[in-house]
Amino acid sequence: IRRIYPFSRGNSDGDKSMKELLGGKGANLCEMARCGLNVPPGFTITTEVCQEFYRCGEKLPEELLTEVRNAVGGVEAEMGLKFGDPKAPLLFSVRSGAAVSMPGMMDTVLNLGLNDEVVVGFAAKYGDRFAYDCYRRLLQMFGDVVLGIPHEHFESKLTALKAAKGIQYDVQMDAEDLRTLVAQYKEVYAADGKVLPQDPWEQMFMGIYAVFKSWNIPRAIKYREINKITGLKGTAVNVQTMVYGNMSDTSGTGVCFTRNPANGERELFGEFLINAQGEDVVAGIRTPMPIKLMADIMPPIYAELVANTTMLEKHMKDMQDVEFTVQEGRLYMLQCRNGKRTGTAALRIALELEGEGLITKDEAVLMVEPRHLDQLLHPQFEDEKKYVEDVITRGLAASPGAAVGRLVFSAEDAEEWRSRGERVILCRHETSPEDVGGMHVSEGILTCRGGMTSHAAVVARGWGKPCVCGCEALHIDLKQKVLTFELHGSEVHMREGDWISLNGTTGEVIKGQQALKEAQVTGGDLGKLMAWVDKARRLRVLTNADTPEDALVARTNGAQGIGLCRTEHMFFSTHERIAAVRRMIAEEELESDHKMEALEELKGYQRQDFEGIFTAMDGLPVTIRLLDPPLHEFLPQEGAAMDALCKQLAEELHASVERVEARLNGLREVNPMMGLRGCRLGIVHPEITDMQAQAIFEAATAVVKAGGHVHPHIMVPLVATTDEMDHQVAIIHAAAKKVADATGIKVRYKVGTMIEVPRAALQAGLLAARADFFSFGTNDLTQMTFGISRDDAQAKFLSHYTRQGILQTDPFDTLDVIGVGEMVKIAVERGRATKPDLELGICGEHGGDPNSIAFFNKVGLDYVSCSPLRVPIARLAAAQAAI
Ligand code: ADP
Ligand code: MG
Ligand code: MG
Repeated sequence: IRRIYPFSRGNSDGDKSMKELLGGKGANLCEMARCGLNVPPGFTITTEVCQEFYRCGEKLPEELLTEVRNAVGGVEAEMGLKFGDPKAPLLFSVRSGAAVSMPGMMDTVLNLGLNDEVVVGFAAKYGDRFAYDCYRRLLQMFGDVVLGIPHEHFESKLTALKAAKGIQYDVQMDAEDLRTLVAQYKEVYAADGKVLPQDPWEQMFMGIYAVFKSWNIPRAIKYREINKITGLKGTAVNVQTMVYGNMSDTSGTGVCFTRNPANGERELFGEFLINAQGEDVVAGIRTPMPIKLMADIMPPIYAELVANTTMLEKHMKDMQDVEFTVQEGRLYMLQCRNGKRTGTAALRIALELEGEGLITKDEAVLMVEPRHLDQLLHPQFEDEKKYVEDVITRGLAASPGAAVGRLVFSAEDAEEWRSRGERVILCRHETSPEDVGGMHVSEGILTCRGGMTSHAAVVARGWGKPCVCGCEALHIDLKQKVLTFELHGSEVHMREGDWISLNGTTGEVIKGQQALKEAQVTGGDLGKLMAWVDKARRLRVLTNADTPEDALVARTNGAQGIGLCRTEHMFFSTHERIAAVRRMIAEEELESDHKMEALEELKGYQRQDFEGIFTAMDGLPVTIRLLDPPLHEFLPQEGAAMDALCKQLAEELHASVERVEARLNGLREVNPMMGLRGCRLGIVHPEITDMQAQAIFEAATAVVKAGGHVHPHIMVPLVATTDEMDHQVAIIHAAAKKVADATGIKVRYKVGTMIEVPRAALQAGLLAARADFFSFGTNDLTQMTFGISRDDAQAKFLSHYTRQGILQTDPFDTLDVIGVGEMVKIAVERGRATKPDLELGICGEHGGDPNSIAFFNKVGLDYVSCSPLRVPIARLAAAQAAI
């Protein structure tokens, strides 16, 4: 294998396409060198060597040592200097750099190759002050990064020395001070039982070793975890000739962006520090100056920098983030990469680059990431830096956006406070369907338990409401209505009515009323991009919506219909409705008046809702799922509330309390997720299917009468066998006929099935003969294919799985393409073999996940369906998948 890729001005075998092998930094150093930019010569050790390093038990491979020596020889020849030679010293930096940029996460060591002898020669050649400045920097960085001596031990010496001299800045230290500092730093080493190796080669190899090791330091692992960076080989190592921004006042170091990363404006944006090295700019040692001032101080260098960065942006076809150093009036390029940016900037930059003819419309669409769009669509905190001191804890970032409100601990309190015009944040151990009213009126939702697909998370995302879940560090006392946690080492109590803020994008829970700003979307710009998006995509994007309001929001966001209307949510929306549901459940006798009345009442509610939804979605398909959840979800938890309910129902139904109790308790199941739910409900209680189907057709007929255009698609959930499907389809057709006969209006409709148990996927060929469409319910399909509970798995073991790499991602977040995806593929193939024009869509949580959408595009689905606020993101992801 080839381990090393050298680069020098005008020369390199590596290029920008080789990020996986050379890391982003290495690949772009090679690319800049190829372009003829003034890059200090050096070489990149590949990411495969990092794998080799870990394979052979965290040791540098024997062959590498020789290869590094040879590569250094090449640089020596070019520079006319020698590594470790006091008479003509050559120094190197050793820099980390993985395929995906992880800024500041891993380690870099500068000024390698100095020792007690070399520094003397170095001083003779370039001056005392400069030489000892480099030496103290080496001692400090090598001590910190390679030997693990705490950074503060060096800092305190430096601070003390400056204080004693009465100076403020590092640059004010003279040669003598720096010599003293070197001596003191050596004492720091000694106190820690360490020494700086005097052999430059030993320094070099220990430096390379440290960079490889830094791939797996906790903060790097954490960063990859948070940013979902998986499947990389490791870090590359860049060994590069040092250039010296700390040589004199005609030297310096800087970083800049070719466009403003906050707002996207086309301008050179960044900072520069005279007489400084490396991290000084970032470390905030002195206040750097705005990059534009360089134009006055060193005009030719500034002109060259502008020329270089302009060239790079054109060449890379994206906004560049550039690191450079000036040594005695000469400009050196040290790094370039596509710059990170806010959503606002991403949009503006993409549009402007297209306008400038640098990229195509498709490329502009690819440049705006789904998370950028997400940012653009949610209200945001005015300044996320302002509140750091007030961050209480960090939970799962379950639903993005910023929310500010007053703390409440129950759904009733939420509604009560809200009715007084207060904004509230609902804080619960976890939420249940009974809380939806309170959840709906809240600005945001906070829970102590539950994962990304917990009730709170799913419902919140559905509404686009910020939600932070699983905050185990919070303790709720429901009785006293107090939230307790630790902050800066002491216990803090927050009470009902106290202000609290949630950042659903980061998972931060913040004390107090933090300032918000409206999502700053200049409609015109976003509209322009979205038009390109819609042109590029093949997948249609539908929405999951249960109310006319949601349907309208989705439509505004570009939804092309409803892919999932969950009828049970309608049952929860008012007290009267849930009461009717409970009467329907509790009454056993099918023919009893109570049952008929309850069903009739529910039918009325549903008809009314469907009319609203059909009207809102006029002309577009509306896919309605028949009742799905286990019936006991409509009941309160065991205890006082349950007892009261039984008593009340007994009165209403003229039955004994014992009988009602027995009936309701009989609904409880050990394993409800695999119990009496989905179409099984409709088979055991055909009257429910009949009632729902009639409500749908009556509503459709009413809207048609009013001049509307309706396309009802009725969907049977959790089907496993063809007979189940036949059973339900017969009821639906009968209901359609009944309504048509009664009204004289025939509505065209479709009947389809959800594919959410593995058996249905396998039987797709037969099911397709009975279905106009399939809708993949990937939440259940994932649960049933893996055999893991979506309600418990996250808290109990999934996080361990992802941390250990046993699973790369949470399969409830991003579709498990190779396993669950195989189920989808099988169903697509078998279904289409029976019925070539079978309509195929997906309505699980994955319908809003960009990576999953890419897969759905590939397997040839017709549409994805996601929550109303996710619709623009799904449109973008669908376009990016198609390009
Ligand atoms: P990071 O990935 O954290 O940005 P880098 O490897 O880019 O780390 O190094 C940080 C800084 O160190 C660079 O921005 C640059 O200023 C300085 N540096 C690195 N290598 C050299 C070099 N060969 N000569 C001069 N400065 C260097
Ligand atoms: Mg850098
Ligand atoms: Mg399901």
